Amino acid sequence: MMTTDADCVFCKIMAGDIPSHRVLDTEDAYAFLDIAPLASGHTLLIPRRHARRMEDMTPDAAASLARHLPTLVQAIMSATGASGVNILQNNGSVAGQVVDHVHLHIVPRRDGDGLGFRWNAGTYAAGEAESLLERIAGYLETR
Ligand code: AMP
Ligand code: ZN
Repeated sequence: MMTTDADCVFCKIMAGDIPSHRVLDTEDAYAFLDIAPLASGHTLLIPRRHARRMEDMTPDAAASLARHLPTLVQAIMSATGASGVNILQNNGSVAGQVVDHVHLHIVPRRDGDGLGFRWNAGTYAAGEAESLLERIAGYLETR
């Protein structure tokens, strides 16, 4: 299985071909400061093994990546004085993914920092949630 992609900017960062501000470096994961931070301390956590999107990862690979989050979040909050973080993963170009190597954004948050989403919450029509659940559960049953 391919573990790096010669054209991938994040694989190049891990190979040392592109410089980065390294935050964490382990056998299975790497974290570094985002070059265009939404806030000071904005960090990207990535798997060492190249995967384009979350659904391309094995469950074990996803779990190995996520296990670094608690300590990393503590370190970033302690270093920045942030009182919270947003953990985001833009999955697919329609969701804002620009770099095709899975990455978790950890964005430090402070009161009044002005960051935010347009969170256009909606509602379900009658029966819509039930038929949706049927399709999701049906898919999961075939796995
Ligand atoms: P996304 O839109 O979720 O794919 O986010 C890609 C992120 O990678 C953006 O926040 C960029 O600022 C960041 N980025 C791109 N190139 C580099 C780089 N060479 N070093 C650090 N961060 C980078
Ligand atoms: Zn890559």
